Amino acid sequence: MCAKAVGRISPTAFFIRGRSEARCHESSFGHAAFDLEVIAYKVQVMNGPTRCSQIFLTAALLISLLAPLVFSQNASTSYQPKNYEFVNGQWFDGTRYRSETFYSVDGILTKRKPRGSFERVDLANEFVIPPFAEAHNHNLGSAIYLRRDSIQQMIQRYLAAGVFYVKIPGNPAENAAILRGEFVNRPDSVDVTFANGVLTSKDGHPIGMTQDSFKQAGIAVPSVEDLEARGVFFIIESEADLRSKWEKIMSGKPDFIKTILRHSENFAQRRTASERFGYNGLDPQLLPSIVRQAHAAGLRVSTHIDSAADFAAAVRAGVDEINHLPGAIFEKGTSEADYLIKPDVARLAAKKGIVVVTTTNIAPLFAKGEALTKVQAVQRQNLRLLKKYGVRMAVGSDNYTDTSLEEALYLKSLDVFDNRDLLKMWCTESAQTIFPERKIGYLREGFEASFLVLGGDPLTNFDSVKNIKVKFKQGRPIPPS
Ligand SMILES: [Zn+2]
Repeated sequence: MCAKAVGRISPTAFFIRGRSEARCHESSFGHAAFDLEVIAYKVQVMNGPTRCSQIFLTAALLISLLAPLVFSQNASTSYQPKNYEFVNGQWFDGTRYRSETFYSVDGILTKRKPRGSFERVDLANEFVIPPFAEAHNHNLGSAIYLRRDSIQQMIQRYLAAGVFYVKIPGNPAENAAILRGEFVNRPDSVDVTFANGVLTSKDGHPIGMTQDSFKQAGIAVPSVEDLEARGVFFIIESEADLRSKWEKIMSGKPDFIKTILRHSENFAQRRTASERFGYNGLDPQLLPSIVRQAHAAGLRVSTHIDSAADFAAAVRAGVDEINHLPGAIFEKGTSEADYLIKPDVARLAAKKGIVVVTTTNIAPLFAKGEALTKVQAVQRQNLRLLKKYGVRMAVGSDNYTDTSLEEALYLKSLDVFDNRDLLKMWCTESAQTIFPERKIGYLREGFEASFLVLGGDPLTNFDSVKNIKVKFKQGRPIPPS
């Protein structure tokens, strides 16, 4: 599931702008690319706000029709950070602020004064918090089809919002390779993890969305086999498929494995309905084997879910992360009861340390008026339950035009969490579910020297999260945008 926003910066407008410039400057992308973007734009206009078909459209079209873009590889820059002393800061420890002096030594936070020279930074009694993180977006996974400066703009938009870590749960592997090689995972950029192609069924999501996009654009529809060969997804119908395709899956060096469940309570029955072709998910009975296989390779597993039964199946299978809350979109013929998480399932999810990535703000894109009120009632009920049982929750937007800021503000508006809860979800849980091995998400001795200095206390006024005065990432200042 992905979404685009209405009435805000349209991702396709963003593409078009990039492409127009490309045409003016006769860039290497050439006119063919521009025309494809126009097609993408037309499809979007026809559809209005739809699921992430635009993204997949753009991705799919360009995968199949453009010669692969080869970016020049910059010689790797060496980043030797200066040492700093930060005085007069109020440092958030996850619960409250402490007035202390921290140093950044070789990009790591410490309270021990280093030998040798360092630069003093006066934080003017302002509020220091860990950076924000976007735990679900596909934008950088397809940004590779844009001009180089458009990719940089997307990265700068994240940095400007104070979002330093991004998780991409679904992207063609070749994009990850290019982005890793030139654009991300360096101190002056965002740090990103990629799932690459998702694991789904032969009639599962995102096959339908991808093929429909071609149909709507009036372009020859690639076969499921073609799309799978390009690593847009991997079809897993049996344990034998899992074994035989595992090497190919691993060859793209995924940072984690993304799997799809969609109303798995009706798995067999849904397959008989031809109109659901391409919009189903994995056999839930295969999920535990996938989890075992991934864990044996040291990879965590994220699972897309729609219904409360999917949520329960994912928890039982022992996945590490659940993407979406049940009921962000009510499928036709379903009602609230299909989307309410059961208390014993929430308890088990908490016990297993499973992280739930919210993506709640997509609801207003798909439901209006009374229908939206119902969806939001379910969102509140589920979030309250997860909170009550202490389930870990991370902020992810699944919205191409968001950076996770809008998602955080929407969560605030649901009035389930206090500002401290929200900061924990956004700064700590989100960062840790993206990079569980790194010392990030807290401002502590030995953690990475990455933080935001806010010109106001977000515990008393949450809007202060937009008032970022200073940013440091891995011991280097991020220049104001
Ligand atoms: Zn998504």
